Amino acid sequence: MPELSPLTTSRTGLAGYLLDQGLVSKPVLDAALAEQRVTGEPVGAILVRNGFLARIDLHRAEAAEDFADSIPEAAGATAIPVELLERYSIIVSQETATELQLSTLVDEVVVRAAVEPYCPGKTVRFVSFVPDQFEPFLDTITREQRGLTSRKDIDQLLLTAIGQGASDIHIVPRPVSCSVLFRLLGVRRLMYDVPLDLYQTIVAQIKDRASMDLAERRLPQDGRFEVKLQGRSVDLRVATVPSIDGEIVVIRILDAEQVAPVLDRLGLSGVETWRDAVNLQNGLCLVCGPTGSGKTTTLNATLREMDRLGKAIYSIEDPVEYRVSYTGQVNVNSAIKLDFAQTVRAFMRADPDVIVLGEIRDEETAKIAVRAADTGHIVLATLHTGSVTGAIDRLRNLGISPFDLRNQLRVVMVQTLLRTICPSCLGAGCTACHDLGYGARTAASECAVFRDGAEVAAAAKGQRSWPSLFDDAVAKYRSGLTTAAELRRVFGSAADAAIGTVSALASRKGRA
Ligand SMILES: [Zn+2]
Repeated sequence: MPELSPLTTSRTGLAGYLLDQGLVSKPVLDAALAEQRVTGEPVGAILVRNGFLARIDLHRAEAAEDFADSIPEAAGATAIPVELLERYSIIVSQETATELQLSTLVDEVVVRAAVEPYCPGKTVRFVSFVPDQFEPFLDTITREQRGLTSRKDIDQLLLTAIGQGASDIHIVPRPVSCSVLFRLLGVRRLMYDVPLDLYQTIVAQIKDRASMDLAERRLPQDGRFEVKLQGRSVDLRVATVPSIDGEIVVIRILDAEQVAPVLDRLGLSGVETWRDAVNLQNGLCLVCGPTGSGKTTTLNATLREMDRLGKAIYSIEDPVEYRVSYTGQVNVNSAIKLDFAQTVRAFMRADPDVIVLGEIRDEETAKIAVRAADTGHIVLATLHTGSVTGAIDRLRNLGISPFDLRNQLRVVMVQTLLRTICPSCLGAGCTACHDLGYGARTAASECAVFRDGAEVAAAAKGQRSWPSLFDDAVAKYRSGLTTAAELRRVFGSAADAAIGTVSALASRKGRA
């Protein structure tokens, strides 16, 4: 039994800096320092792992003050050819859309000139060279750049996908070879074509690591495993589909840090309204949209900025996608008949402040959500619908009375995701965006807040209006954040009228 002494706090160095800069609050910092006494990790690493600090903000803080405990880590992939890295003894430690961080043993001026063609438009920043990292780094990059050719490269495949920020890897066998595709910013892209014998090896290894039945190839299976990357672990969910050409394997990458959800950075219009509502004492707050519209990310970002020490937060998900420390997260488990409704009842007996319901998809769940809200809790939930009025209709159809809706509904956020033009190449395609022309994604959204029952009733009758999700997307297109092609991809032919208006305006301006 470890000694339980009062927590002493030495808020000096990096910890003090983070506090002074307002990057973390005092209770959060004290919690991290308390955890440091148990684990012995650097305090910055603990804050990032627990989702109180974005890694980018930690790097900025470390760079600003040059703290002794900041040792750069080698990256897993780079566009700089391995021959160049070897010749100039370069270790790449971090590459973002705007900055390349590296260390070298030779003259910085020479190295800067040599690497610049591979990182156009980026600021090159030098950090301290860690000799022990050089050989392993070179090995990793050599394998990464020479492509997928042998058994051990399965790790490299996973690390490359994670390094590029892919959300999924699709391994799709065809009659003569096998395609490996990454989903980047929501769209699949062919990365490798591999021989069928290598496909067999890869699939066997993945199924083995995901604890699946290796001999079973005719039935779909699912499983999960973890990989380590730069000292952190990334969760992988695996699903197989028995196609006529062999098993299709899809690996979903749940990289909590990649998402690093910060509510203000998701691009949600109406985020202030949303934030005010979720910080009320009770009521129902909904995030709506189709699958892959970023609902879970919005929920996670919302939880992350709540007072997770001061409030008891519980969530039930199917399954839990990202861990949020200092909250109680539960997986739906159909094998033992643990469902949404039953778990929410358990939460209500466990002194909750906030209850998160992964998805409202049936009458029982809808009713328990409303009851939890009615008994003085904030209930956050997602709903599979495309508009605010659609959300109200859906709840009515799930048996929620107009009375309960008027009294409990606080806010509805509806969202979808749009790819944004790469800032490095302005859409032309470059190494930073893997030639996609898109650098990231932003949300298009509509958000309606209900201050009283009358406002809910008016909305249900179609007597209230607010800027729609489509209006928001068109505004983002007009401000130059995204392309006409992306608007068409997301909204189909409905986008044409809006795009036409802009083109007409542009050509009129051109003539003037
Ligand atoms: Zn680009």
